[in-house]
Amino acid sequence: MRRFLAGALLFLLLLNSGNALAKDSEYHFIVKHGDSLSGYFSKLGLSNRLLANLLSASPQNKQLNQLNIGESVIIRLHSNRRFKSLSYRSHKKDTIEALLIGTRFVSSSNKDERNLSPLLVTKIVINNSFGYDAQKAGLGLSVVNTVVEALSWHLNFDTDLHKGDRFFIVTNGKKKPIGIIYKGKNKSVEAFSHTNERGKTSYYNRHGYTLNASFLRAPLKYKRISSKFQLSRYHPILKTYRPHRAVDYAADRGTPVVSTADGVVKLKGWKGALGKAIIIKHGANYTTVYAHLSKYARNLRQGGSVKKGQVIGYVGSTGRSTGAHLHYELRFKGKRKDPLSYKLPKQQKVAGSKLWGFRAQVSAILASL
Ligand SMILES: [Zn+2]
Repeated sequence: MRRFLAGALLFLLLLNSGNALAKDSEYHFIVKHGDSLSGYFSKLGLSNRLLANLLSASPQNKQLNQLNIGESVIIRLHSNRRFKSLSYRSHKKDTIEALLIGTRFVSSSNKDERNLSPLLVTKIVINNSFGYDAQKAGLGLSVVNTVVEALSWHLNFDTDLHKGDRFFIVTNGKKKPIGIIYKGKNKSVEAFSHTNERGKTSYYNRHGYTLNASFLRAPLKYKRISSKFQLSRYHPILKTYRPHRAVDYAADRGTPVVSTADGVVKLKGWKGALGKAIIIKHGANYTTVYAHLSKYARNLRQGGSVKKGQVIGYVGSTGRSTGAHLHYELRFKGKRKDPLSYKLPKQQKVAGSKLWGFRAQVSAILASL
């Protein structure tokens, strides 16, 4: 059990308002016995008149006069401590969003993220492996897979986990978790579900960005494409026709090669015809391969993480190769795809109109831990 002082500050998020200089502040309150909105207002130095304006701005705002224990209120202030906006979520799952523009409140009731109660939290402490410990904690295989898929853009389940690391899986009775939180020895990763306008449910960080990395189109500055993705190509060394499910980029020996997305180094070493090669895993489903390298970047470590655009090696002609070039493969679920045409995942953002509701859900999930 976590205990808080009445109206305790759960946490303070500094949000970048888009202006590099100005930082907005975000205050999350979970209503305790004796709390009221006027209490929160006075705590933050906001006036009674402002509160009165807020309450009279729309009929639904009157609800804010009667907060119930356990409900959530988020108040955001501009960097100059002036009121910016408020988000409220009631037990009846009504959400009120109020934004102060000039001297006038604009408010709306958002009912899209109303899938909150009751929240069920399963805690998993790593003792053996995630799969083993999760099933021991009662999670089904499909939830285990969802967790691995959601977090694997930022967490290597083979090498990052330490004994004693914790996972919190938050569900609301539906199949897929609505919150997945990993708190490890060296890092934390959070994922919160959100269903977009097209009905697709994905996992986002608390700021409303999907967790998947986005990809660069090419892993180097090249002179020309010397061989495209094709199912039948005459091979100059083997003197036969065979598929080339990759792109070859002609470039000078020593040209830096970068990872096309955030990921984890799965292999760094000699790989037959590919010569000196690097294989990088991006999330659960994507893999990229970089081959015929002359050498590896100095700090590159098998099992280590790489960032999009990070130099991982240098163009060469090792393995079965007739001249300096980079052989680049993109694989989705193990199948080679054409890197020049394949539709790569983009990082998505929760739509602006849904963001407040999403944030209110995030704070309720975090408060339930
Ligand atoms: Zn090739």
